[in-house]
Amino acid sequence: MEQLEQKVNGQETASNLDSLDPVRDMINSCIQCGTCTGSCPNSFAMDYTPRHMWRMVLMGKKDKIFNSKTFTLCSSCYYCTLRCPRGLPLTEAMSALKQIALREGYTKYKQSTQFYKQFMNSVRRHGKVNEMEFMSFYFAALMNPLISLRFAPLGMKFMMKRKISLAVPFMGHSSLDAIFRKVEEMEEQQ
Ligand code: SF4
Ligand code: SF4
Repeated sequence: MEQLEQKVNGQETASNLDSLDPVRDMINSCIQCGTCTGSCPNSFAMDYTPRHMWRMVLMGKKDKIFNSKTFTLCSSCYYCTLRCPRGLPLTEAMSALKQIALREGYTKYKQSTQFYKQFMNSVRRHGKVNEMEFMSFYFAALMNPLISLRFAPLGMKFMMKRKISLAVPFMGHSSLDAIFRKVEEMEEQQ
């Protein structure tokens, strides 16, 4: 049915459906009751409500899903997961959408995914974030000097208040590195 709908619309391909499969498996018994939307503290700012998002996942509307900011606004509070009458892992499903956006390199999310990635890389290296190093790698990854210029006044303020250190951090591995490696191994096995 979904494949037929896509052929009729002529907008999405069957291969587009594949990466959504794990998310669809998580929410395929959704009864569209709307409890998740009613529970979500961030739904007022989302362009599609969580209930609507699950409907689009079931229908394979990948273009609409990944042009939306709904899943990027999920703050993993778990209210929807706790209250869903079908006991669906909705927070995990939102997180899975974030991961797909990161993995498939959607330009729309480049800034937020790079921010997250460089933040976690810095935590992995030092056991806590090193702001100066993290922002330097983040701006370098975006390859857009205009963005770094926009943040320059804020950076200056932080430096004057000694909230950011200019010291070059140690570039080895922190004790958190083993945990990160273990998680990567577990993800590869899934
Ligand atoms: S609360 Fe659960 S069953 Fe109800 S719409 Fe949301 S995901 Fe579907
Ligand atoms: S986990 Fe995300 S989607 Fe669910 S209620 Fe919280 S913010 Fe909303």
